This record gives sequence, structure tokens and C-alpha cells, in this order.
Amino acid sequence: MTDPAHIDSFYAATMTEAPARPPLEGKAEAEVCVIGGGLAGLTTARELAAAGRSVVLVEGARVGWAASGRNGGFVSPGYAEGIDAIEDKLGYEHARALWDLSVEGVDYVRGAIDELKPAGVDPVPGWLKVIRYDDADGLKRRAETMATRYGHPRDFWPTEHVRETLRTNTYFQGLHDTTAFHIHPLNYALALAADAEAKGARICEGTPAQRLDRGRAGWIVETPQGTVSARDVVLSGSAYPPNLWRQIDRAVLPIATYVIVTEPMADRLAESIRFGGCIGDTRRASDYYRIVEDGRLLWGGRITTRRSEPAHLAQMLKRDILAIYPQLGDFRVEFAWGGLMGYAVHKMPLIGRIGEGLWACTAFGGHGLNTTAIGGSLIARAIAGGDDTWKRFRPYRPLWGGGSLGRAATQLIYWKLQFLDALEERRARRGDDSA
Ligand SMILES: Cc1cc2nc3c(=O)[nH]c(=O)nc-3n(C[C@H](O)[C@H](O)[C@H](O)COP(=O)(O)OP(=O)(O)OC[C@H]3O[C@@H](n4cnc5c(N)ncnc54)[C@H](O)[C@@H]3O)c2cc1C
Repeated sequence: MTDPAHIDSFYAATMTEAPARPPLEGKAEAEVCVIGGGLAGLTTARELAAAGRSVVLVEGARVGWAASGRNGGFVSPGYAEGIDAIEDKLGYEHARALWDLSVEGVDYVRGAIDELKPAGVDPVPGWLKVIRYDDADGLKRRAETMATRYGHPRDFWPTEHVRETLRTNTYFQGLHDTTAFHIHPLNYALALAADAEAKGARICEGTPAQRLDRGRAGWIVETPQGTVSARDVVLSGSAYPPNLWRQIDRAVLPIATYVIVTEPMADRLAESIRFGGCIGDTRRASDYYRIVEDGRLLWGGRITTRRSEPAHLAQMLKRDILAIYPQLGDFRVEFAWGGLMGYAVHKMPLIGRIGEGLWACTAFGGHGLNTTAIGGSLIARAIAGGDDTWKRFRPYRPLWGGGSLGRAATQLIYWKLQFLDALEERRARRGDDSA
């Protein structure tokens, strides 16, 4: 985490110029200290600075160094937890309010891009979600429910339309969400950081917070070469348990996931993938992909609870691609990387006050681009203006994730989900063959 460089990824290779921000040295004072310079911390700092609060953000590595600068770049409404499960737990009214907040998160990202016009973020609209088994009626019902109950209409695509667009027989019907889009997430994070600074926030890179103490006047955040005194502290360190606050450290499970980017192969892709937006399937353990600059394919998938990346990562994801699009033939994988997502056991973010002047804005899981935006905005609104909308997230408390046992259980759950997906598809294929 103290390595000041970005990892070797497609995003780092295509990032816009960003100043190296010096580490904190000596004593600093601010109304708020934000710990972690991912999208959650950056949005919080940006919004606090916009509201006229003094802010120091400390980041252990570089701004956007972790998940925020390594992800698939898909921006869409919702949470890592499904809306049905949220409704089962909280009832329709509350679930609808949370859904609407997740839509606000999407609007926030769109609005920030419209306002800042950052270079290299390149938003491209549309998300096509396809199924790997034949179920037109089920998918139409799903679309109808989301349109009528959650105000989120999506276009139904029959199998022929899906297969004209994505040249594979793996997929059947699909839903097209025109409100979603994809971006270059690292350049977006850098733009938020620059804007937070322009609004008055101070960002210190290479500055891991090592200790957090409650003094008489507020909090003291200790870093290797300095301290920050602040009335409020926001914990946004995600999956990198910094041993700062036991309740949060224990509640956030690190889950690894992977992305590869191919060599440029625009001609071959044009034959196979005739859609410029986000593409993903509805499997529990889904693949997601999109075409990026120079006609390269960016492909993400798989999760593991191991922290080390498997050496055969590139080959593994390449096999996943060829299983769907064998016609792409042999191609080079030019970038392969992994990232850690922070998950709470309930798969919902931890957003809210956890002590006097102490706030959590973390655990956004695999659905962080919109939810970090809303988390950061809500925490900033709470600190700067006493707004208590964050209480909507109160039912999702920071429960202990089970440590290494929790990680093992998560891996087992993932394998079970993969198995269920395969079973469902095999059944569907059998039905198809016998029809
Ligand atoms: C490969 C991958 C693909 C994904 N794809 C998508 C996608 O397509 N769409 C989507 O919505 N979501 C996606 N996600 C999830 C999304 O990226 C995350 O939910 C989101 O970026 C989390 O942001 P964050 O700010 O909470 O955490 P992070 O981005 O992980 O940032 C946390 C930061 O805190 C810093 N830090 C930690 N401890 C300390 C400390 N003690 N002191 C100082 N700094 C500290 C770290 O260095 C890090 O920079 C993906 C994630 C991964 C890994």
C-alpha cells in the first residue's frame, strides 16, 4: 500500500497526467480527515470542500490506486445486493428509497463528468444484460417489475436481436438499460481529486493512516511523518484493513476479482461484438466486458478470496472469452490485473455514523461506481449540514465478516453459485435440444 506507483493496468497505461501529491509531513488541522483516496473518499472530500469545509484526505498509495482505478468502469443503478433481497428485508417503501438513491449515484457520476469534462473518461452509454438460457417470459416479467415498481424501464431484446448484435449462440434474450454507461474509472478518480483540490481540499498521497485516537477536541490521525487533527473522520479504506477501527476492519471482507485487456483487434471484434456499451450476463458469477480504445476487448470476471492473483489469470479469462466467441481465434492478452473489493456480509455498503465524529463510507463491493458517489455525497451532507438521509442505510450494520473463516465461506458460496449457474444453463440447453 505504500508503493507510490499505480499497478500495471490498461487504465494506468492510458491515464491522464496527474501530479504526485507529497505525503503529509508535520501537523495538519482540518474540520474533516478522510482516510482513503478511492472514489468513496474522493467524492466525500469533493462534496465537503464544495460545502466550504476544510478537508485533508490521506491516501496510503496514489489516488485511484485500488479498486477505483482498476474496475470494469460500468456505471449503473443498484447495489452489490439484489433489490429483491433488499425488499425482502426492508419492505417495498424502504427498498424503493434505496433504489432511488442508487439512481442518484448514477446521476452524480454523469453530472460530474458533464461539469468537469475530464479528458480520457470517455463515457459510452448502454448496458446490455443477456441470459444464457431461454426465458423470454421470465425476462419480460423482470423488466415489467423493475419498470412499474422501481421506475426503471429497460428495453427487451429477443434472442434474434441479441444474436445479431453479439455473434454467439451462448446468449438468448437480453435487457438494454439506456441509463447505464461505461467510463475510464481511473481518469474519473483523477478528475474528482483535481476538482476536490480546486475546491480547497488537501490530498496527501503515500500517507497511510496508521492510528486513530480520540482526543479531547476531536480525532488525531497518525501517519508515518505527521498527524491530522480533525473533528470528524471518514473511514474509506475499503478492502485494505488498516487496523484503525476494529468494528469496520472486521466487517469488510476483501474479495479479489480480475480484468484482462486484449491486443487491438477492432476488425475481429466488429464481426463478433456489435455493441459499444457495457455487456454482461445475468449469471450469479457473471462475465462483463466492453470494447475500449484501439479496438481492444476489456473483460472482467471471476472472484476469489485469495489475495494473490493466480499466475494463470490471463489464460483463465482468455478461455472464458473463447468459450463464448471461439471465432476470435488466438489473440494476445496485453494487460491482466486484479483488484480487491470490500464486501460486508450483507453485501450492502456501510454508510453512516459509527461513533462521535466518526463515519464509515465503505464496503461498496462489486457495485461501487454509483454507490460510492451516493455514499460520499450523503456523508458530506451529514457532516456539513446535518442531513440524515444516510440513516436509510442503518439496517445494514457493520457485522463481523468472520475473518479468514468468512473468506473461506465466501469462496464456497461463489463456487456454489458457479455450480448453480452451470446447472441452470445445462437444463436450459437440454430443454432446447429436446424442443
Ligand atoms: C476488478 C474490479 C472490477 C470492478 N468493476 C466494477 C464495475 O464495473 N462497476 C462498479 O460499479 N463497480 C465495480 N467494481 C467495484 C468498485 O470498483 C468499488 O466498489 C469501488 O471502487 C470502491 O471504492 P472505494 O473508494 O470504497 O475503495 P478503493 O477504490 O479500494 O479505495 C480505497 C483506498 O483507501 C486507501 N487506504 C486504505 N487504507 C488506508 C489507510 N489506512 N490510510 C490511507 N489510505 C488507505 C487505499 O490505498 C485505496 O486507495 C469493481 C472492482 C474491481 C476490483
